[in-house]
This record gives sequence, structure tokens and C-alpha cells, in this order.
Amino acid sequence: MPSNLVIVYHRQPYEEVQEGGKTVFKENKSPNGIVPTLKSFFGRFDSGAWVAWKEVEDVSNPDFDRVVEIDDAYGSYTVSRLPLTADQIRSFYHVSSKEAFWPILHGFKERYNYDPVDWPTFREVNWAFAEAAAAEAAEGAVVWIHDYNLWLVPGYLRQLRPDVKITFFHHTPFPSADMFNVLPWREEILKSLLACDVIGFHIPRYVNNFVSAARSLLEATVVDRQKVSEAMSSRATALSEQTVPTTLQFEGRTVALQASPVGVDVGYIQAIAGRPETASQTAEIRQELGQSRLLLSVGRTDYTKGGIEQLESYERLIENNPDLRGHIRLMHVSVPANRNMSVYENIQNDLEQIAGRINGRFGRLDWQPVTLISRPLAFESLVAYYRAADIAWITPLADGMNLVAKEFCAARVDGDGVLVLSEFAGAAVELHSAILTNPFSHRSMDQAVLQALAMGEEERRHRMGALREMVARQDVRFWAEDQMRALARGDEAVVDFAAAS
Ligand code: UDP
Repeated sequence: MPSNLVIVYHRQPYEEVQEGGKTVFKENKSPNGIVPTLKSFFGRFDSGAWVAWKEVEDVSNPDFDRVVEIDDAYGSYTVSRLPLTADQIRSFYHVSSKEAFWPILHGFKERYNYDPVDWPTFREVNWAFAEAAAAEAAEGAVVWIHDYNLWLVPGYLRQLRPDVKITFFHHTPFPSADMFNVLPWREEILKSLLACDVIGFHIPRYVNNFVSAARSLLEATVVDRQKVSEAMSSRATALSEQTVPTTLQFEGRTVALQASPVGVDVGYIQAIAGRPETASQTAEIRQELGQSRLLLSVGRTDYTKGGIEQLESYERLIENNPDLRGHIRLMHVSVPANRNMSVYENIQNDLEQIAGRINGRFGRLDWQPVTLISRPLAFESLVAYYRAADIAWITPLADGMNLVAKEFCAARVDGDGVLVLSEFAGAAVELHSAILTNPFSHRSMDQAVLQALAMGEEERRHRMGALREMVARQDVRFWAEDQMRALARGDEAVVDFAAAS
């Protein structure tokens, strides 16, 4: 059956497991992240579909059902699995997206690697996604496409299906024209994005950057600009903006632009934080720490996350403040996502080397200054660590949003704990009650931790109260509703839907 809502997202919306020789589709073990929220939208439309890829040996003869019907807690929906070979996945996802686009999106020109990009394959895979979405979409359906590895899908889909409403959410930062235009495929990408009805970004800065890139190459005109909401502009920081364009005109079409920060599922995180098992795990961690205060850092192993710069700051802190020795500990969780990429292996080696050096220089039999964890923690354990930490120390050099910072606040049902957050994480625009720090400045990095360590309980609680309020207000549902509201702008049919929801 054709669907009124088609979600195009690279991951499948469930876990596919083999049980007794049969393939079974199960709810994701940890419902953390945006997938459950996206699926919850299916309940609002008569029929829904999800398009994702699945690896196959022979594309013309996949050993699985191309399209499956799923019936789960979110209702019934169709999942269209696009068969891709390992080579296609490597090329479009691991090479073009991660080696060429990722560094540019995050402002690391020097890491940009053009040579291995196979643009025809990127186009081919994006075309296949567009065809799969077109096949599922009913007349006038809403098609919601996610992220930069599907940059060309909106343009192709517009050719295939001029009738559908296309909305695209960009999950990474969007750089300014000076940076974005390093990509030789810039015009093709921008034209594809401008085929959307709505383009969503986390924060107003990324919208402004997108518009700067679009206007540098194309005759795109800003027809409406609004003041940024108080929630996102009350404190001037590195990623602040005071106004943001909300509507563009391009080749006779109107494109709505919307800044909606992805949030977390506060109820879910609070429920885990309140479980007796979590409380006992937190108590064990605290007992192990003794009198030491815990600094917690969590992120993927990636140059954008600033892990090396953070460990160097920690080393300086211990070196320059002998009174801290024996009294603080850092748990640095850095989880490699792309094991087979040398750039990530090098960072992992560097992290291990610096952590080893710090422990070698300052460690004692009764005190290990830093613990480096390179394997993923189950979300439940992570919540126990969030609860046990005195300070969450989250200092990416560039980060579209950073959900770890928000999860930490959501988990602090006790109302205590200090968040030290990089100004260059999108989340900093909302979380202005954190101690904001500049990871490019040694002084700012070191001072922020000293300030956090010195902060009295009253101020800690005051700041955490404000952070928790923001995280609860702009949660994951707020994000999704906000994106849908943008789609409703000026469209009667969808306005009805938005009003009814
Ligand atoms: N995460 C996890 N276990 C770990 C480390 C991270 O479950 O050991 C999760 C974390 O809870 C968060 C996500 O991974 O939901 C990381 O999201 P974030 O936005 O901070 O960074 P990204 O990796 O998307 O850049």
C-alpha cells in the first residue's frame, strides 16, 4: 500500500536477528536515540514506510525480502530494504561521506580527502534511495530524508515525484560557504537540497551557513528572516545567532528552513536513572572512587570530538595543580565507530599513548589519574556513570549537537552535577547554564575544570535546574514536532495534520 509518510534513514528501524533458522525483527534493545520518535509518527498517518539499506552479495539477487511489513508497538509500517553491495556501502558511506564530507562539515579542511571519492557511486546509491522512496510514497505523501550521506536524494526524488512533500534533516553541522565550497560537488548538492520543501538543521548557525553557501553559488533569495528564540540566543557564545532566515525562494519554489535541535527522551532516561539497579551501580562506582571526584568524558573516537586536546588539558591540570593529585579521576570513554579506518586508529593510538603517559607520570599504587575505555558501554551503565560523575566534561572541537551532554542532564534526577561543555557543540546554544569552554584555548579548557571543581552546591543545583528544564523542554519530541510544523507552513493539508496531532 502506498504510504503517506516515508522516512528515509540509513539504518533499519529494528534489530534483525536469527532465531531457530528464521529471521525475526525485534525492537531495538535500547530505545535511546531518534528512531523510536521517528517511528511514533507512523501512528499519525494512515500508512507509513521506512527506507534503509541492507548489505547483499548480489544486488540483482538479494537473499532477503526487499520489502517487509512490520507490526510493532508503533503500529504497522512497511520497511523497504535497499540492497547494496559491501563495495557500494564502503564507497558511499565510509569513503565519500566520512573521508570527504565529514571533515568539511566539521571545518577540518586539512583532513579532507578527495582522491578516493567515487562520485558516480554516490549518485547511484542516492538515486536508488530516491527510487525506493518514490515507490513507497502515496500521492502527495511526506518524505522525510535524513542526513548528508543522502544529500542527492531530494533532487532525484523531486524529478521522480514532483507531487510529494520533501523534508530533509541535516544531523551534522553545516559549514559556511568558505568551507563548504571546498567540495567540488557543491552546486549539485545545494541544488538537490533546494528541491526540498523543508530543510532542517539543529541550530540557527547551520541555517545561516547553509544560506551563505546557497547564495554564494545560486540565485537563492531570503524571503523571510526571524529573530532567534530566547531559548537559543540569550547568551552570546561561539555558535550564537540573533536572526535566522526561515524561507528561501529558489527557481520559483519556496523552501522553508527550520532550526530544531535534536533532543533526548527525557522520560526514558529518567526512568533508567531512577531504577534500583542503576542506583546500586552508581553507589558501586562512587565507592570505588573513594574521596576522588569523577570527571566523565564520553564520545566516539573521532578528531571532531577533541579527545586528545582534552587529555592534554587534564595532564596540564595535574601538572600545574599538585593539590588535585589523588583527588580527581577522569573516566574517558572513547568508542571507535569505524574500526577499519586508519584515521580513527591513529586517534585511538594517540589517546592510549597520552592516557598511558599521564598514568605513568602521576599515577600511584592507590591512584590512577585516568581510565580510558574504548568499548561501548550499555546505555544503562552509561546512565549510572552520568549519575556518579561530579563533572561531565564534553569538549568537542566541532559537533552538530552532542546528545551525551543532554543525556547527562536528563540523568541527574538528583539535581546535582556540573556540565562543562564546548562552545562548539550545537547543544551549547541551548545549554547556556553549563560552564562553556573553548577547546582551542588551553587557558579556557583548564580554567573551566577548575571552576567546575570549585563550584559550590547551591550554584551547581541552580545551573543543573536550568539545564534540566531546557533539556526537558526541547526534548526529542519537540524536535520532531518542530520539523513537522515547518512542513505545515503554508500547506493546508499538512496544517490539518499538524493541528490534529
Ligand atoms: N553511547 C552509548 N555508549 C557509549 C558511548 C556513547 O550508548 O559507550 C551513546 C550515547 O548515549 C549517545 C550516543 O552514543 O546517545 C552519542 O551521541 P552524540 O550525539 O553525543 O554523538 P555522535 O556519536 O552522534 O556524534
